[in-house]
Amino acid sequence: MVSTIGPLDPCVHCGFCLPACPTYLATGDENDSPRGRIVLMQALERGHTAIIDSALTIHLENCLGCRGCEPACPSGVQYGRALETARRTLAGSHGLSVSLRALLAVFGSPKLWRPGFTLARWLRASGLPARLAARSRLGFAMGMLGASRQANFRPAQPTQVSGRDQSADRSGSRPTVALFRGCVMDTLFGHVHEATVRTLGANGFDVVEVRGQVCCGALHEHAGATAGARALAATNVAAFGRHADLIVVNSAGCGAMLKDYGELVGTTAAHGLAGRVRDISELLSDAGPRAGAPLPCDVAYDAACHLQHAQGIVSQPLDILRAVPELRLRVLPGSDQCCGSAGLYSVLRPSLARAVLEPKINDIASLVPRPKFLATGNPGCLMQIGAGLLAAGLDIDVVHPVELLDRSYALAGHYRPELGKAGREA
Ligand code: SF4
Ligand code: SF4
Repeated sequence: MVSTIGPLDPCVHCGFCLPACPTYLATGDENDSPRGRIVLMQALERGHTAIIDSALTIHLENCLGCRGCEPACPSGVQYGRALETARRTLAGSHGLSVSLRALLAVFGSPKLWRPGFTLARWLRASGLPARLAARSRLGFAMGMLGASRQANFRPAQPTQVSGRDQSADRSGSRPTVALFRGCVMDTLFGHVHEATVRTLGANGFDVVEVRGQVCCGALHEHAGATAGARALAATNVAAFGRHADLIVVNSAGCGAMLKDYGELVGTTAAHGLAGRVRDISELLSDAGPRAGAPLPCDVAYDAACHLQHAQGIVSQPLDILRAVPELRLRVLPGSDQCCGSAGLYSVLRPSLARAVLEPKINDIASLVPRPKFLATGNPGCLMQIGAGLLAAGLDIDVVHPVELLDRSYALAGHYRPELGKAGREA
């Protein structure tokens, strides 16, 4: 007889994961800890609890899915895998809430999310959202939108870095790379996409544009709506085909999802795509990013959970920032703790999301000297932390690490005029 070990079976209930769990730290409730949720999920798995038990549903929905508990566990419990299975079971048994279904329907179709985010971008351009940022529910939502704007880099004179230009040595030696555009990134964070394309070009990568892409499906998958996630994944697999050697992603959540496409879709093409996905920090770190011009400023780095815990990418974003001379880099204390963004979590569970964020904002506020920028590699984290900083009245811009490298390259004169806003079409 073949014995199968489930993802939760290795749990010995030691509790080492408890201090790593932001919801347990915020509520102090064992049911909102990984150990408590493991007991609930095991009861669900074994049929020892009613599937409609509201306590079970609440505590599993309170989970951020940040996977901060996984590296803290000495027994190798695969918490994230088990959570997705449990959420799939719950979604299948009593469906999703109306608000969640409506949100997922929007993200399921570019015809719906593109006009919605375009309107949001126009509102952001008015400057009102950043000015209205506050701790209230509406004020926080405004702050999230305001925080998605491009950081205000002070004008500075371009500086030519000494030494010969290395771009000629690099061009032709790197693989072709297709940019994964996503939904929120492509509409609210177009400036990060532009910085990504330019910095890749300056490091010798040939960037191509792929048409027909859709949302990565992570929001659907994390909600237990696996059929929706699979449909979006299959569309992306077909769109990318064999268009480029590698696929670059600058959103931690999307990158983690794309790397799971093999298991989700189950086809050879999906496994092939998953194996070609790289976060922008992985590509630039592997290339040994060329140095830019000095950018003397204080920067605090906060790790996105879906980079650090889900993809195991820890040092590469720091490599990007260290390629900027005179940038004074600090890793934020508690950088490995979730900020409370977690996809749609901050919209659906605003009170707990803000309770989880609070210690991070306090940690940033207590840094001496006060940083000019907070860098992190995920759109949700940029908006959540940015809204918290705006609400606290802290004059700190949130940026993707690649934006700082891009600024440094622009000042160094690394960009040729033909390095435009998009790569060539595949
Ligand atoms: S998940 Fe790991 S760390 Fe947490 S209680 Fe179980 S064995 Fe201990
Ligand atoms: S995924 Fe995050 S919020 Fe959920 S139990 Fe683990 S550490 Fe806690």
